[in-house]
Amino acid sequence: MTAQIIDGKQIAGTLKDKIAAAITERSHAGLPVPGLATVLVGNDPPSQIYIKNKIRTCQELGIHSFSHTFPEETTQAALEELVLALNDDPLVHGILIQLPLPPHLDTFRLLSRINPQKDVDGIHPINAGLLSRKEGTPWFIPCTPAGILYLIQTVTPDISGLEAVVIGRSAIVGMPTAQLLCRHDATVTICHSKTRQLPDICRRGDIVVAAVGKSHLVKAAWIKPGAIVIDVGINRTPDLADPRGYHITGDTDFEAIRQTAKAITPVPGGVGPMTIAMLMQNTLTAAIRI
Ligand code: NAD
Repeated sequence: MTAQIIDGKQIAGTLKDKIAAAITERSHAGLPVPGLATVLVGNDPPSQIYIKNKIRTCQELGIHSFSHTFPEETTQAALEELVLALNDDPLVHGILIQLPLPPHLDTFRLLSRINPQKDVDGIHPINAGLLSRKEGTPWFIPCTPAGILYLIQTVTPDISGLEAVVIGRSAIVGMPTAQLLCRHDATVTICHSKTRQLPDICRRGDIVVAAVGKSHLVKAAWIKPGAIVIDVGINRTPDLADPRGYHITGDTDFEAIRQTAKAITPVPGGVGPMTIAMLMQNTLTAAIRI
């Protein structure tokens, strides 16, 4: 079997077209333009690229973006003050704090200051808690997990009863992805750095989501023939032939796995574009609710 390549770039493009059309319709109806505030602290090069892409996509879709950039040594108090001001700003419907923050900052405390109704990254403890309860309705589902589910459902709309293996348990990707798949009635196993027999557990998965940050960790022999494989990893692999000095690789051995899997996402061009599209969708949703 040669796997279907799940083209996240194209799927995200279609979704973004719909979002742009909805925003145009809103503006013709005299309704407010959605507004997204982004907060970037420090000089982490990947974070700078992610924020740039998010702001550019806002511009393409007609969303107002309000960019707040701070030096590495910014204090917790200054950032909390900003978040409280953004909570009160009627032009700002969504607030995104780019992670990771510098180590001297208390990330959990800062994220907890965001109004959950403007928490378009779905990471406020209230939204995270609501996601973990099947009867709960979070204001927002985190963008990367929402994008992952969307991509899986382009292949298999109903994942009820399927075995899903999520590798990684971070607050922003692994854990909410596992919870989201569980809410859709998949039987979910969460793996992490202390998991034993990872290859054996992976081989059970009808769906395998790799969100680790280790280039080519997941091998073809770990994948059940016919599985759906979602590669979330973004790893900078040194490459002197590339003008940047590196190229981007995922967490899976893509070329080998595509020989046996049913479907697989490429890196780049898989989950990454969907994360941004979902952020735009959540920002539009936030504006519609107000
Ligand atoms: P993280 O470092 O917070 O979490 C990594 C997780 O992997 C941890 O739960 C850890 O226990 C687990 N882990 C580490 N080594 C392992 C091993 N050998 N076996 C099994 N599990 C192991 O990272 P994160 O923020 O969750 O991001 C994961 C990857 O996804 C990174 O490459 C990141 O750049 C990428 N990412 C991509 C997008 C996107 O839009 N495509 C969004 C967010 C993160």
